[in-house]
Amino acid sequence: MTKIAFIGLGNMGGPMAANLVKAGHAVTGFDLSEASRNAAAKSGVSVAGSISQAVRESECVITMLPAGSHVIYVWDELLGFVDPGTLIIDSSTIDVESARKVHAFADKAGCPSLDAPVSGGTAGAAAGTLTFMVGGSDGAFSRGKHLLEAMGKKIVHCGDAGAGQAAKICNNMILGVSMAAVCEAFVLAERLGLSHQALFDVASTSSGQCWSLTSYCPVPGPVPASPANNDYKPGFMASLMLKDLMLSQQAAAASGATTPMGAQAAQLYSLFEKLGHGAEDFSGLIRMLRGTEAA
Ligand code: NAD
Repeated sequence: MTKIAFIGLGNMGGPMAANLVKAGHAVTGFDLSEASRNAAAKSGVSVAGSISQAVRESECVITMLPAGSHVIYVWDELLGFVDPGTLIIDSSTIDVESARKVHAFADKAGCPSLDAPVSGGTAGAAAGTLTFMVGGSDGAFSRGKHLLEAMGKKIVHCGDAGAGQAAKICNNMILGVSMAAVCEAFVLAERLGLSHQALFDVASTSSGQCWSLTSYCPVPGPVPASPANNDYKPGFMASLMLKDLMLSQQAAAASGATTPMGAQAAQLYSLFEKLGHGAEDFSGLIRMLRGTEAA
Protein backbone atom coordinates (compact mmCIF):
# COMPACT_ATOMS: atom_id res chain seq x y z
CA MET A 1 0.00 0.00 0.00
CA THR A 2 1.39 3.39 -1.02
CA LYS A 3 0.16 6.78 0.22
CA ILE A 4 -0.63 8.67 -2.97
CA ALA A 5 -1.78 12.26 -3.53
CA PHE A 6 -3.70 12.76 -6.77
CA ILE A 7 -4.12 16.33 -8.10
CA GLY A 8 -6.56 16.80 -11.01
CA LEU A 9 -9.57 14.49 -10.68
CA GLY A 10 -11.24 15.29 -14.03
CA ASN A 11 -12.35 13.00 -16.86
CA MET A 12 -9.06 11.09 -16.82
CA GLY A 13 -7.71 11.70 -13.31
CA GLY A 14 -10.98 10.70 -11.59
CA PRO A 15 -11.08 7.11 -12.92
CA MET A 16 -7.29 6.75 -12.66
CA ALA A 17 -7.41 7.66 -8.95
CA ALA A 18 -10.32 5.22 -8.52
CA ASN A 19 -8.19 2.40 -9.97
CA LEU A 20 -5.38 3.18 -7.50
CA VAL A 21 -7.94 2.87 -4.68
CA LYS A 22 -9.15 -0.46 -6.13
CA ALA A 23 -5.53 -1.69 -6.16
CA GLY A 24 -5.36 -1.08 -2.41
CA HIS A 25 -3.51 2.25 -2.23
CA ALA A 26 -4.47 5.09 0.11
CA VAL A 27 -5.34 7.96 -2.23
CA THR A 28 -5.91 11.56 -1.15
CA GLY A 29 -7.12 13.81 -3.97
CA PHE A 30 -7.64 17.46 -4.76
CA ASP A 31 -9.30 19.28 -7.66
CA LEU A 32 -10.48 22.88 -8.06
CA SER A 33 -13.86 21.60 -9.27
CA GLU A 34 -16.41 20.59 -6.65
CA ALA A 35 -18.12 18.15 -9.04
CA SER A 36 -14.81 16.32 -9.62
CA ARG A 37 -14.09 16.23 -5.87
CA ASN A 38 -17.53 14.76 -5.14
CA ALA A 39 -17.22 12.12 -7.88
CA ALA A 40 -13.79 11.10 -6.57
CA ALA A 41 -15.09 10.81 -3.01
CA LYS A 42 -17.72 8.33 -4.24
CA SER A 43 -14.97 6.08 -5.63
CA GLY A 44 -13.10 5.92 -2.31
CA VAL A 45 -10.65 8.81 -2.75
CA SER A 46 -10.19 10.79 0.44
CA VAL A 47 -10.72 14.40 -0.64
CA ALA A 48 -8.49 17.21 0.71
CA GLY A 49 -9.28 20.92 0.85
CA SER A 50 -6.04 22.09 -0.80
CA ILE A 51 -2.93 20.91 -2.61
CA SER A 52 -0.82 21.31 0.55
CA GLN A 53 -3.26 19.14 2.55
CA ALA A 54 -3.42 16.49 -0.16
CA VAL A 55 0.32 16.00 -0.55
CA ARG A 56 1.29 16.06 3.13
CA GLU A 57 2.96 12.75 4.13
CA SER A 58 2.42 11.23 0.69
CA GLU A 59 5.01 8.84 -0.76
CA CYS A 60 3.98 9.64 -4.32
CA VAL A 61 2.14 12.56 -5.96
CA ILE A 62 0.40 12.19 -9.34
CA THR A 63 -0.89 15.16 -11.37
CA MET A 64 -3.42 14.94 -14.25
CA LEU A 65 -4.05 18.52 -15.41
CA PRO A 66 -5.09 20.31 -18.61
CA ALA A 67 -1.80 21.83 -19.89
CA GLY A 68 1.83 22.76 -19.17
CA SER A 69 1.03 26.03 -17.37
CA HIS A 70 -1.21 24.16 -14.87
CA VAL A 71 1.49 21.55 -14.23
CA ILE A 72 4.18 24.20 -13.63
CA TYR A 73 1.87 26.05 -11.23
CA VAL A 74 0.84 22.94 -9.29
CA TRP A 75 4.33 21.35 -9.06
CA ASP A 76 5.81 24.68 -7.93
CA GLU A 77 3.27 24.73 -5.10
CA LEU A 78 3.29 21.06 -4.07
CA LEU A 79 7.09 20.77 -3.98
CA GLY A 80 7.02 23.18 -1.05
CA PHE A 81 5.04 20.67 1.05
CA VAL A 82 6.43 17.20 0.22
CA ASP A 83 9.34 15.42 1.90
CA PRO A 84 12.52 15.02 -0.16
CA GLY A 85 12.43 11.59 -1.82
CA THR A 86 8.71 11.73 -2.62
CA LEU A 87 8.11 10.43 -6.15
CA ILE A 88 6.32 13.02 -8.35
CA ILE A 89 4.58 11.86 -11.56
CA ASP A 90 2.80 13.98 -14.16
CA SER A 91 0.43 12.14 -16.51
CA SER A 92 -1.02 15.19 -18.30
CA THR A 93 -0.22 15.72 -21.99
CA ILE A 94 2.03 18.79 -22.04
CA ASP A 95 4.86 20.33 -24.06
CA VAL A 96 8.31 18.77 -23.70
CA GLU A 97 9.84 22.06 -22.49
CA SER A 98 7.39 22.39 -19.55
CA ALA A 99 7.89 18.69 -18.71
CA ARG A 100 11.67 19.19 -18.50
CA LYS A 101 11.14 22.36 -16.44
CA VAL A 102 9.10 20.56 -13.77
CA HIS A 103 11.58 17.65 -13.68
CA ALA A 104 14.22 20.31 -12.84
CA PHE A 105 11.97 21.76 -10.07
CA ALA A 106 11.61 18.27 -8.57
CA ASP A 107 15.33 17.58 -8.84
CA LYS A 108 16.08 20.79 -6.93
CA ALA A 109 13.67 19.70 -4.17
CA GLY A 110 15.37 16.28 -3.93
CA CYS A 111 12.40 14.42 -5.43
CA PRO A 112 12.61 11.79 -8.21
CA SER A 113 10.13 12.49 -11.00
CA LEU A 114 8.51 11.02 -14.12
CA ASP A 115 6.59 12.42 -17.06
CA ALA A 116 4.07 9.68 -17.84
CA PRO A 117 1.43 10.79 -20.36
CA VAL A 118 -1.17 8.28 -21.45
CA SER A 119 -3.03 6.98 -24.43
CA GLY A 120 -6.34 5.14 -24.26
CA GLY A 121 -8.84 7.92 -23.47
CA THR A 122 -11.49 8.00 -20.80
CA ALA A 123 -12.57 4.40 -21.55
CA GLY A 124 -9.00 3.20 -20.98
CA ALA A 125 -8.76 5.29 -17.79
CA ALA A 126 -11.95 3.68 -16.44
CA ALA A 127 -10.94 0.14 -17.46
CA GLY A 128 -7.36 0.51 -16.18
CA THR A 129 -5.98 -0.31 -19.64
CA LEU A 130 -4.06 2.90 -20.44
CA THR A 131 -0.69 2.89 -22.18
CA PHE A 132 1.87 4.97 -20.24
CA MET A 133 4.83 6.56 -22.06
CA VAL A 134 7.38 7.37 -19.41
CA GLY A 135 10.36 9.72 -19.17
CA GLY A 136 12.73 9.89 -16.20
CA SER A 137 15.64 8.10 -14.53
CA ASP A 138 15.80 4.31 -14.19
CA GLY A 139 15.48 4.69 -10.41
CA ALA A 140 12.33 6.83 -10.62
CA PHE A 141 10.84 4.46 -13.21
CA SER A 142 11.40 1.37 -11.09
CA ARG A 143 9.75 3.10 -8.12
CA GLY A 144 6.71 4.25 -10.11
CA LYS A 145 6.11 1.29 -12.44
CA HIS A 146 3.87 -0.73 -10.11
CA LEU A 147 1.66 2.34 -9.48
CA LEU A 148 1.28 2.95 -13.22
CA GLU A 149 0.43 -0.75 -13.63
CA ALA A 150 -2.60 -0.23 -11.39
CA MET A 151 -3.93 2.25 -13.99
CA GLY A 152 -2.64 0.82 -17.27
CA LYS A 153 -1.75 -2.35 -19.11
CA LYS A 154 1.32 -1.22 -21.06
CA ILE A 155 4.09 0.83 -19.46
CA VAL A 156 6.95 1.91 -21.75
CA HIS A 157 10.09 3.59 -20.38
CA CYS A 158 10.98 5.88 -23.30
CA GLY A 159 14.11 7.55 -21.91
CA ASP A 160 15.13 10.49 -19.71
CA ALA A 161 13.15 13.55 -18.61
CA GLY A 162 10.63 14.60 -21.26
CA ALA A 163 10.90 11.40 -23.34
CA GLY A 164 7.37 10.30 -22.40
CA GLN A 165 5.90 13.59 -23.67
CA ALA A 166 8.04 13.37 -26.81
CA ALA A 167 6.66 9.87 -27.54
CA LYS A 168 3.09 11.02 -26.89
CA ILE A 169 3.18 13.99 -29.27
CA CYS A 170 4.97 12.01 -32.02
CA ASN A 171 2.34 9.25 -31.74
CA ASN A 172 -0.53 11.72 -31.80
CA MET A 173 0.93 13.56 -34.79
CA ILE A 174 0.79 10.22 -36.66
CA LEU A 175 -2.82 9.85 -35.49
CA GLY A 176 -3.90 13.35 -36.63
CA VAL A 177 -2.26 12.95 -40.04
CA SER A 178 -3.52 9.39 -40.59
CA MET A 179 -7.10 10.28 -39.63
CA ALA A 180 -7.10 13.22 -42.07
CA ALA A 181 -5.75 10.91 -44.81
CA VAL A 182 -8.36 8.20 -44.12
CA CYS A 183 -11.17 10.82 -44.13
CA GLU A 184 -9.93 12.19 -47.47
CA ALA A 185 -9.81 8.70 -48.98
CA PHE A 186 -13.45 8.01 -48.01
CA VAL A 187 -14.56 11.39 -49.43
CA LEU A 188 -12.75 10.64 -52.69
CA ALA A 189 -14.25 7.12 -52.78
CA GLU A 190 -17.74 8.60 -52.40
CA ARG A 191 -17.14 10.94 -55.36
CA LEU A 192 -15.87 7.99 -57.41
CA GLY A 193 -18.94 5.87 -56.60
CA LEU A 194 -17.00 3.37 -54.48
CA SER A 195 -18.84 2.05 -51.39
CA HIS A 196 -17.47 2.60 -47.88
CA GLN A 197 -17.37 -1.14 -47.29
CA ALA A 198 -15.47 -1.82 -50.51
CA LEU A 199 -12.79 0.75 -49.67
CA PHE A 200 -12.58 -0.59 -46.11
CA ASP A 201 -12.28 -4.23 -47.26
CA VAL A 202 -9.46 -3.36 -49.65
CA ALA A 203 -7.52 -0.77 -47.60
CA SER A 204 -7.78 -2.67 -44.31
CA THR A 205 -5.89 -5.59 -45.87
CA SER A 206 -3.63 -3.50 -48.14
CA SER A 207 -0.90 -0.91 -47.74
CA GLY A 208 -3.40 1.78 -46.64
CA GLN A 209 -4.05 -0.13 -43.40
CA CYS A 210 -3.72 1.94 -40.20
CA TRP A 211 -5.40 2.35 -36.78
CA SER A 212 -7.52 5.32 -37.96
CA LEU A 213 -9.05 3.00 -40.56
CA THR A 214 -9.32 -0.36 -38.83
CA SER A 215 -10.07 0.63 -35.22
CA TYR A 216 -11.61 4.08 -35.61
CA CYS A 217 -13.13 4.15 -39.09
CA PRO A 218 -14.56 7.68 -39.77
CA VAL A 219 -17.64 6.40 -41.66
CA PRO A 220 -20.45 4.38 -40.07
CA GLY A 221 -20.61 0.65 -40.82
CA PRO A 222 -17.26 -1.08 -41.22
CA VAL A 223 -16.12 -0.72 -37.56
CA PRO A 224 -19.31 -0.83 -35.44
CA ALA A 225 -17.68 0.61 -32.27
CA SER A 226 -16.23 3.72 -33.96
CA PRO A 227 -17.75 7.15 -33.06
CA ALA A 228 -18.98 7.55 -36.66
CA ASN A 229 -21.73 5.08 -35.67
CA ASN A 230 -22.75 7.35 -32.80
CA ASP A 231 -23.08 10.70 -34.60
CA TYR A 232 -19.41 11.48 -33.85
CA LYS A 233 -19.86 11.78 -30.09
CA PRO A 234 -16.37 11.51 -28.53
CA GLY A 235 -14.36 9.34 -28.21
CA PHE A 236 -11.44 11.66 -28.55
CA MET A 237 -12.51 15.29 -28.85
CA ALA A 238 -11.29 17.26 -31.86
CA SER A 239 -10.10 20.05 -29.51
CA LEU A 240 -7.76 17.57 -27.76
CA MET A 241 -6.46 16.36 -31.13
CA LEU A 242 -5.77 19.98 -32.02
CA LYS A 243 -4.02 20.55 -28.69
CA ASP A 244 -1.68 17.58 -29.33
CA LEU A 245 -1.00 18.65 -32.92
CA MET A 246 -0.13 22.16 -31.73
CA LEU A 247 2.27 20.62 -29.18
CA SER A 248 3.91 18.65 -32.00
CA GLN A 249 4.32 21.81 -34.07
CA GLN A 250 5.74 23.74 -31.11
CA ALA A 251 8.25 20.91 -30.55
CA ALA A 252 9.08 20.75 -34.27
CA ALA A 253 9.80 24.49 -34.36
CA ALA A 254 11.92 24.34 -31.20
CA SER A 255 13.94 21.33 -32.40
CA GLY A 256 14.23 22.26 -36.10
CA ALA A 257 12.30 19.17 -37.32
CA THR A 258 10.39 19.46 -40.62
CA THR A 259 6.81 18.22 -40.20
CA PRO A 260 4.70 19.58 -43.10
CA MET A 261 2.01 16.88 -42.78
CA GLY A 262 1.67 17.57 -39.05
CA ALA A 263 1.37 21.31 -39.83
CA GLN A 264 -1.36 20.63 -42.40
CA ALA A 265 -3.28 18.39 -39.97
CA ALA A 266 -3.03 21.11 -37.29
CA GLN A 267 -4.51 23.64 -39.75
CA LEU A 268 -7.37 21.30 -40.65
CA TYR A 269 -8.25 20.66 -36.99
CA SER A 270 -7.92 24.36 -36.19
CA LEU A 271 -10.49 25.16 -38.91
CA PHE A 272 -12.75 22.32 -37.68
CA GLU A 273 -12.65 23.81 -34.16
CA LYS A 274 -13.30 27.36 -35.44
CA LEU A 275 -16.40 26.03 -37.22
CA GLY A 276 -17.69 24.97 -33.78
CA HIS A 277 -16.83 21.26 -33.78
CA GLY A 278 -14.17 21.12 -31.07
CA ALA A 279 -16.34 19.02 -28.75
CA GLU A 280 -17.09 16.40 -31.43
CA ASP A 281 -15.02 13.31 -32.04
CA PHE A 282 -11.92 14.06 -34.16
CA SER A 283 -13.05 11.59 -36.86
CA GLY A 284 -15.96 14.01 -37.56
CA LEU A 285 -13.40 15.90 -39.67
CA ILE A 286 -14.77 13.87 -42.59
CA ARG A 287 -17.97 15.93 -42.51
CA MET A 288 -15.96 19.15 -42.95
CA LEU A 289 -13.96 17.65 -45.83
CA ARG A 290 -17.20 16.48 -47.44
CA GLY A 291 -18.78 19.88 -46.83
CA THR A 292 -21.59 18.34 -44.78
CA GLU A 293 -20.55 19.15 -41.21
CA ALA A 294 -23.44 19.20 -38.74
CA ALA A 295 -24.58 22.67 -37.63
P1 NAD B 1 -10.26 17.55 -17.42
O1 NAD B 1 -10.41 18.98 -17.79
O2 NAD B 1 -11.46 16.68 -17.37
O3 NAD B 1 -9.50 17.42 -16.00
C1 NAD B 1 -8.49 18.30 -15.57
C2 NAD B 1 -8.81 18.64 -14.13
O4 NAD B 1 -7.74 19.44 -13.59
C3 NAD B 1 -10.09 19.46 -13.96
O5 NAD B 1 -11.00 18.73 -13.15
C4 NAD B 1 -9.62 20.76 -13.30
O6 NAD B 1 -10.54 21.26 -12.35
C5 NAD B 1 -8.34 20.30 -12.63
N1 NAD B 1 -7.42 21.40 -12.32
C6 NAD B 1 -6.98 22.40 -13.12
N2 NAD B 1 -6.13 23.21 -12.44
C7 NAD B 1 -6.03 22.71 -11.18
C8 NAD B 1 -5.33 23.11 -10.02
N3 NAD B 1 -4.56 24.19 -10.00
N4 NAD B 1 -5.48 22.37 -8.90
C9 NAD B 1 -6.27 21.26 -8.89
N5 NAD B 1 -6.98 20.84 -9.97
C10 NAD B 1 -6.85 21.56 -11.10
O7 NAD B 1 -9.19 16.96 -18.48
P2 NAD B 1 -8.91 15.41 -18.79
O8 NAD B 1 -9.72 14.97 -19.95
O9 NAD B 1 -8.95 14.64 -17.51
O10 NAD B 1 -7.40 15.50 -19.32
C11 NAD B 1 -6.30 15.67 -18.43
C12 NAD B 1 -5.02 15.54 -19.25
O11 NAD B 1 -4.99 14.26 -19.88
C13 NAD B 1 -4.88 16.57 -20.36
O12 NAD B 1 -3.54 17.00 -20.43
C14 NAD B 1 -5.29 15.81 -21.61
O13 NAD B 1 -4.68 16.31 -22.79
C15 NAD B 1 -4.77 14.42 -21.28
N6 NAD B 1 -5.46 13.32 -21.97
C16 NAD B 1 -6.82 13.31 -22.09
C17 NAD B 1 -7.45 12.27 -22.75
C18 NAD B 1 -8.95 12.23 -22.88
O14 NAD B 1 -9.45 11.42 -23.69
N7 NAD B 1 -9.70 13.03 -22.13
C19 NAD B 1 -6.68 11.21 -23.30
C20 NAD B 1 -5.30 11.22 -23.12
C21 NAD B 1 -4.69 12.28 -22.46
